[in-house]
Amino acid sequence: MASTGSSSKSYSIAVVGGGISGLCLAIGLLQYDIPLTIYEAAPHFGEIGAGVAFGPNAGRAMELLSPKIYQAFLKCKTGNADNSKSDSWFTIRVGDARKEDKEGYVREGKKVGDALFDVPMHSGGGRGGVYRAHFLDELVKEVPDGVAKFDKRLVELGEAQDGSGDVVLTFADGSTAQHSAIIGCDGIKSLTRKWLVGRDNPASKAVFSGKYAYRGLIPMDEAVDLLGDDAARNSQMYLGYHGHLLTFPIAHGKTMNVVAFSSRDTWEDEKWVVATSKQDMEDDFQGWGPHVTKIVKAMQKPDIWALFEHPPCDTYTKGRVCLLGDAAHATTPHQGAGAGQCIEDSYILANLVKDANDVNGLQRAFSAFDQVRRERTQKIVKTSHEAGQMYEFELFGDDLDKIEESYKHRMRWIWDIDLEAQLEQAQQIMKQ
Ligand SMILES: Cc1cc2nc3c(=O)[nH]c(=O)nc-3n(C[C@H](O)[C@H](O)[C@H](O)COP(=O)(O)OP(=O)(O)OC[C@H]3O[C@@H](n4cnc5c(N)ncnc54)[C@H](O)[C@@H]3O)c2cc1C
Repeated sequence: MASTGSSSKSYSIAVVGGGISGLCLAIGLLQYDIPLTIYEAAPHFGEIGAGVAFGPNAGRAMELLSPKIYQAFLKCKTGNADNSKSDSWFTIRVGDARKEDKEGYVREGKKVGDALFDVPMHSGGGRGGVYRAHFLDELVKEVPDGVAKFDKRLVELGEAQDGSGDVVLTFADGSTAQHSAIIGCDGIKSLTRKWLVGRDNPASKAVFSGKYAYRGLIPMDEAVDLLGDDAARNSQMYLGYHGHLLTFPIAHGKTMNVVAFSSRDTWEDEKWVVATSKQDMEDDFQGWGPHVTKIVKAMQKPDIWALFEHPPCDTYTKGRVCLLGDAAHATTPHQGAGAGQCIEDSYILANLVKDANDVNGLQRAFSAFDQVRRERTQKIVKTSHEAGQMYEFELFGDDLDKIEESYKHRMRWIWDIDLEAQLEQAQQIMKQ
């Protein structure tokens, strides 16, 4: 068992998985000297080379969870370059030229690629895009040596035979570890989730959402040459039929992050990330306007990401096991909210575990966490799915008035949450 030193706690926790969830939770717990070990399947911590955007709720969660995590975020984050856009989530444009009327307009006086409206988002709490690998590197610095064990792929969970009620973890290399409790931060394909909800339960596995995405990066100078300053340096979303494309600045404005979405009915490949050709991507955006066409042409070595999501499960905890982050509620990325939920989860759970002095307290902490977090995080999965449909003219058709109206309100409940009140509610539940 690894820990940071002397602890008054009579238990030890296994955190399975060292992504954004596992690291944020571990940093949060370590500041209260909770004995823990992170078990990571990969040979080292790592994130993909792409961007991730955080809303004000995520910034606030980081601030509340740990000053170290918040500082890491502030060091990496990039917002819109234009000051007048500091309260804009995205500028919305139509990207698909098939929306044009006979006169070539997509809305009164507006052509394909023109800015239509901004989605307001208050900037309190800190918000912005980060390059994932940089952010993870900053988080890793806050995890003391010896806390994480690598090349430890969890393959089985079971109860210890010594009457302690502990959980025994078995890893792919044949080794085992025994801990008082486990927090599964093992992502969308979580083994902990399968064990917890039952392998035969349809909620044990993520399902294909009907959407996939190409991800890419374009050097900002090149993006400015292609699109101009405004469209390159500030967050943009281009809407269309069964597809949409978004861009936002990362790496302190040196890079433009691109995610281009498209649709298909099923996903048969066992892999969820597959290499594709530039030609396939260009074919998917045939008939789109000049902005999108230029961006798609500038993306090198595209990968396709199949977008899966979790059906809702009845609980995030069983006995001494708890799920957190994508393992509990993997969502499509259409609200830019998945990683933010991992951090909100970590804030709530770390503060509940802090008050647990023994294994009974831990179980009460897990149960309180489940009761306050499940509804919100599952609603995010559902509304994110709908948001993707809206951007792709599948929810309100291509009625831009309805779409604009919906954009202005639909994400407020995510961004404006009072996390301290939610923690207080959980603490009350835990005491009962
Ligand atoms: C295309 C796309 C764009 C996105 N954009 C955004 C965005 O802009 N904003 C946002 O907030 N969210 C976004 N998300 C969602 C966000 O990426 C996830 O919510 C977040 O990264 C999940 O973090 P996690 O740590 O829970 O899971 P993961 O990042 O999947 O980490 C899980 C970790 O567990 C390890 N692991 C897995 N299985 C085992 C095992 N059996 N034993 C031991 N270790 C194991 C893995 O190696 C990994 O390190 C996006 C997602 C996608 C797909």
